Amino acid sequence: MADSLVVRGGTVLVGNPLEERFVDADVLLRDGRIAEIGSVPSDGAPEIDARGTFVLPGFVDSHHHLWEASMRGLTADWDITQFMARIRSSYAKFHTAQDIHAGTLSGAVAALDCGVTTSIDYMHCVNTPEHAEASVDAISEVGIRSVFCYGLNAVPLDEPWFTTHADRLDDARRMRSTRFAVTDPAELITFGIAASDLGSRPAEITDAEFALARELDVLLTVHTDCLWSPDYPQQVAELHTRGLLGPKQLYAHANRTTNAELALLADAGSAVASTPEVELQMGNGFPVLKRASRHGVPAGLGSNLQANNSPDLFTQMRLARHSITAIENQPLLETTGTAALDGTSLTCAQAFFHATLDSARALGLDAVTGSLEVGKAADLMLLRNDGVHHRPIVDPMATIVSQSRPSDVDTVVVAGVVKKQSGRVDDALRRRAISLADGVFERVRSRSTPLRRSGH
Ligand SMILES: [Zn+2]
Repeated sequence: MADSLVVRGGTVLVGNPLEERFVDADVLLRDGRIAEIGSVPSDGAPEIDARGTFVLPGFVDSHHHLWEASMRGLTADWDITQFMARIRSSYAKFHTAQDIHAGTLSGAVAALDCGVTTSIDYMHCVNTPEHAEASVDAISEVGIRSVFCYGLNAVPLDEPWFTTHADRLDDARRMRSTRFAVTDPAELITFGIAASDLGSRPAEITDAEFALARELDVLLTVHTDCLWSPDYPQQVAELHTRGLLGPKQLYAHANRTTNAELALLADAGSAVASTPEVELQMGNGFPVLKRASRHGVPAGLGSNLQANNSPDLFTQMRLARHSITAIENQPLLETTGTAALDGTSLTCAQAFFHATLDSARALGLDAVTGSLEVGKAADLMLLRNDGVHHRPIVDPMATIVSQSRPSDVDTVVVAGVVKKQSGRVDDALRRRAISLADGVFERVRSRSTPLRRSGH
């Protein structure tokens, strides 16, 4: 059968992960979609042996700057102020379009390897139109599902290619009307806007960027409420006052967003994205994820940047669970004591939901991906469950979230295309990612002599 593939004999997580419906079944994939979940007869279509695995929706990463994989590991001991000064204001200036292509391709392949089938690309290094094109070229080459979000922020170049902010808006319009003229959300790569960091530009710039996203009818995402100072205004409240909140908006981090502001986001139909590893390390504050979810705001998980950490969402799920539980437990411990505790604040099933279906909802893609249902895209992973560290399986969701790791990801399929099988990512992609990534940071650093002299 042309364009069909049978995933045979696995334990399939069917539907919304929160329902924890695990079924021993086959999955028929046809023309890039899930055609059937059940007992699928053999009819000559190619098959993947799924025995010894959970068949799961692929992870959905809702906050990730793929291009920064060009500097993989550089920031592991940095805080947010160092990050802003050294990368956003410095190394970003020295990335050519070719470097962006290398970083993005390498970042996307590494994400696939970890079971990520959809990743936003929050591309905030659009130094020229070619930089944006290079990102989309790389994502297309890898074949991961993505929302490419065109960054409207201005990297502080000595000789900027875009001489006015209006030029940037026009270039985003150009890209939308050329490369992204088809508006079907089921397209493998869709278009969005990454606005300038809130508070970093005059209000009229923010107004123009939000208006552009509305004009183009695409997702807008933006870094929000993640830098702290007694002098900073509450950014969500300010957007509300100016009438800018609305649907198709994804607020990244939102660590100091108040509960009252989360209620405003819920009313507006907006979403948030949490990236626990970077937020906890760099000093952004605790993840907003659970507070947002309690207020009815879709809350995705993300890995943020491979300049800092792996695109592995198993780690993000665990850090979210434990940091949120710790901060919520502490007042109880200090008042009533241990007897007042009542389990974890974020269950394993909830963590997996935020890493899949709720991330998809945050990106506006929940009708397309994020769970295994007939008619949705064939975006899935086979996660081995037959290792020493898996058995016995007492609770499947606990095995997935608290006992598994990226090396257990056996197979990854995006839109029906096998990207990883038998524990190895597609060999041509793997070789290309490594050959492009090797040397890229040395070239970037060689263009930034003052930084090199200061040790970075
Ligand atoms: Zn970010």
